Amino acid sequence: MPASIVVGTQWGDEGKGKATDYLADGMDLVVRYQGGNNAGHTILAEGHTLKLQLIPSGVLYPHITSVIADGVVVDPRVLLEEMDGLSAVGVDPSRLVVSGNCHMIMPYHLELERVTERFLGKNALGTTKRGIGPAYADKAARIGLRVQDLFDEAIFREKLDIVLREKNQLLTRVYGRLPLTPDTIVEDYLRYAERLRPLVTDTSKLLHDALLVGKQVLLEGAQGTMLDLDKGTYPFVTSSNPVTGYALASAGIGPREVDRVIGITKAYVTRVGAGPFPTEDRGPDGQRLGELGREFGTVTGRKRRCGWFDAVIGRYAARLNGLTELFVTKLDVLSGSRGLKVCTAYRADGETFEDFPPHQSLFHRAEPVFEELEGWDEDLGSVRSFGDLPNAARKYLERVQELVGVPISVVSVGPDRTQSLSAG
Ligand code: GDP
Repeated sequence: MPASIVVGTQWGDEGKGKATDYLADGMDLVVRYQGGNNAGHTILAEGHTLKLQLIPSGVLYPHITSVIADGVVVDPRVLLEEMDGLSAVGVDPSRLVVSGNCHMIMPYHLELERVTERFLGKNALGTTKRGIGPAYADKAARIGLRVQDLFDEAIFREKLDIVLREKNQLLTRVYGRLPLTPDTIVEDYLRYAERLRPLVTDTSKLLHDALLVGKQVLLEGAQGTMLDLDKGTYPFVTSSNPVTGYALASAGIGPREVDRVIGITKAYVTRVGAGPFPTEDRGPDGQRLGELGREFGTVTGRKRRCGWFDAVIGRYAARLNGLTELFVTKLDVLSGSRGLKVCTAYRADGETFEDFPPHQSLFHRAEPVFEELEGWDEDLGSVRSFGDLPNAARKYLERVQELVGVPISVVSVGPDRTQSLSAG
């Protein structure tokens, strides 16, 4: 059973890029299973700082085949630009394969997202405006265009004409914008098609065949469990499902193939944009975490809200995803914290919740029950073995592990690939 899944256990930005890159060493294929070019992983290795939005994080290793599976929405222009960016720093992107079933982000998705966000005013979701939500909406409405449509010009034109008729009505009559012309879109997309053609394949068959001969496959999610369309804090969520169940649907493999489910867990918690966040610290401690942890979005540059480790969402993520282990990141950022805290439960409406509350109004009103732990001052950036961590840091990790109920396998103490300590 050689498949593993990497999933974010919080609101994204847990450091999945770094974790996947670290784990990819022992893998043969790394598969991105949902989201689009809104994810923004940052990887620091071999002297490169790479900001990847779409291409799976294993791309730095020459032995890895990178796979974009069905559940990802692809903006072909962005994908090609990202490949060119990799080539420019000497990384070969030619071992990338893309599923023909991926839905494409089209120019009207970008345009419509911009105008609808403006229309929502203060109720705007604060999306990344990359057209990802509208592309997923069209997929569900069954009017999406898929990568495979690029290779049959007549079909592509026909589908585009049908969908543009409605989109142009919306753009012109509802939002007072100019209509989009099909010819320009066709011309651009057929040009992308020429470059994409060699990459497109039946990725589900490729993965099946790889697993049959014992190859190691890592399925990589974007965003995080609390941003899941079904299980997250709706409507402040992403438009796809980061939870591990969807990894299987997207990759097209069965549950018996998976033996490791690795929950990427930041040693504290951050959240971008609006929505409830019980352990948020709006004071100087939260600000300090944001500064030391450089908590700004990779794609948007937006400042992330910061707070303390939340074991309630940790346990929620553990059961939703079937976590077998935790990969704890950014422990170094907690050095020097005074009054280090972890949230063990919530209080809402006079009740205590150790589990994620059953409906969202309770979550909005949830007050964290904190437990204070001993802090440490040592800089952890140069620690290279688990045993060399300060006692208080080890105790912190033990408490996290105990509260979540899942063993910690790796601890990260800095952004570089070498700053990862095996806890085993
Ligand atoms: P992702 O989307 O989950 O991959 O997360 P991001 O890439 O948006 O955010 C993670 C950021 O933290 C990146 O800038 C990483 O280089 C950085 N990072 C990852 N692990 C660590 C760590 O252990 N310590 C520190 N200080 N930074 C880290």
